[in-house]
Amino acid sequence: HLFDALSDRLTSVFDRLSGRGVLSEKDIDEAMREVRVALLEADVALPVVRQFIDKAKERATGEAVIRSVKPADQVIKITYDGLVEMLGGDGEPEGLRLSANPPTVILMSGLQGSGKTTTAGKLALRLSKERKKVLLASLDTRRPAAMEQLAMLATQAGVDSLPIVPGQSAPDITRRALQAARLQGYDVLILDTAGRTTLDEAMMSEAAEIAKISNPSETLLVADALTGQDAVRTAKAFHERLPLTGLVLTRADGDGRGGAALSMRAVTGLPIKFLGVSEKIDGLDAFDAHRVAGRILGRGDVVALVEKAAQDLDVERAEAMAKKLAKGQFDLDLMAEQLKQMKRMGGMEGLMGLLPGVQKMKKQIAESGVSDKTFDRQLAIISSMTKAERKKPDILQASRKRRIAAGAGVDVAEINRLLKQHRQMADAFKALSKNGGKGFGQMAKM
Ligand code: GDP
Repeated sequence: HLFDALSDRLTSVFDRLSGRGVLSEKDIDEAMREVRVALLEADVALPVVRQFIDKAKERATGEAVIRSVKPADQVIKITYDGLVEMLGGDGEPEGLRLSANPPTVILMSGLQGSGKTTTAGKLALRLSKERKKVLLASLDTRRPAAMEQLAMLATQAGVDSLPIVPGQSAPDITRRALQAARLQGYDVLILDTAGRTTLDEAMMSEAAEIAKISNPSETLLVADALTGQDAVRTAKAFHERLPLTGLVLTRADGDGRGGAALSMRAVTGLPIKFLGVSEKIDGLDAFDAHRVAGRILGRGDVVALVEKAAQDLDVERAEAMAKKLAKGQFDLDLMAEQLKQMKRMGGMEGLMGLLPGVQKMKKQIAESGVSDKTFDRQLAIISSMTKAERKKPDILQASRKRRIAAGAGVDVAEINRLLKQHRQMADAFKALSKNGGKGFGQMAKM
């Protein structure tokens, strides 16, 4: 498989780590250096590797130490998260966007030999299994064999193909296909554009014209994963001329250095939607970043374990916090804890959506001008305080404030704002706890 070599390399890096108990910062740096080399050797583009390593280090230092988890496992999890992000981030696989007004047009583009026609047939099969009525049309006017190939694939997939009319131009075929699809009630029209062996202007402008005429919901670039960095260059060149919406990487079943495929998403910004995994008509997998990252690391068990432990820790913390809150003990330590959790949970915006019945507080916080950027400064302020000051902010007189301001590199006004916000939050919590503590569970689990 495409990612096997990388998988082997990473496995050996982690195997060496897991022999050890406690990992120092140096150990983690060393491991990250090896991960970096492994990614580069697998042909992942350099800027992508750099970004990966920077983020991984940030995560490694920012992450709470989970005592129930071995440090080596935590490094695996951080690498896993980095791979998932590199491959398009969290969330469900995107799948195809289908238009609300059928027929949905899917435009296939790519170099000749990339597997474009085969992929058109595979998509047709997939969609017809989802009970869509599919029409396939080839626009490869220079290669009658390609047109016949598509017609054969249509038969295999059990869908229709547009009758071939020799001598028609690609734009004319496009218009004929659109009309047929509309008149005959097709859900999806898949247009297979002409490919060339190399990028050229004529091919690009023809594809751009077809896109204009057919207004596709999806314009997919099919690229051969085995061609490495060439595939990345091709994708960039196509993306400059065509409004691409996604990538299909073929020959993921072949072995090669899969790194270019891994960079594809980061370099082009386009989602990878499918992987071609065999020559057969059903050899197309929906692309799932988690599955691929899991396959590369081969340590699904570890990832699940660390996720579970992190969740447990959050719940534990949340419960401890809820207890303190219920007793009206909202001190600055608790506020700092809360700020850290907010940061972990993806900041203010995402967070506020989770809070039921705290509209008033939401307004107060919004008015006090807190944004995600202020979190770090606020944490710096709180950590410049003494323990006593954090417990009893009332003792903060002017001279103490000046000292803290100097320590945190902010001005006194900002400290006053923080204290005001703290008072408002404390009041809000008090009011909440008088409501019988309703909402605390939710609140604290942030
Ligand atoms: P096109 O010129 O881009 O339309 O390419 P074709 O669809 O004709 O494919 C070229 C060759 O690649 C054919 O022999 C296909 O069977 C093969 N092919 C396409 N996709 C895959 C894939 O995902 N895996 C493998 N192993 N072969 C593939």
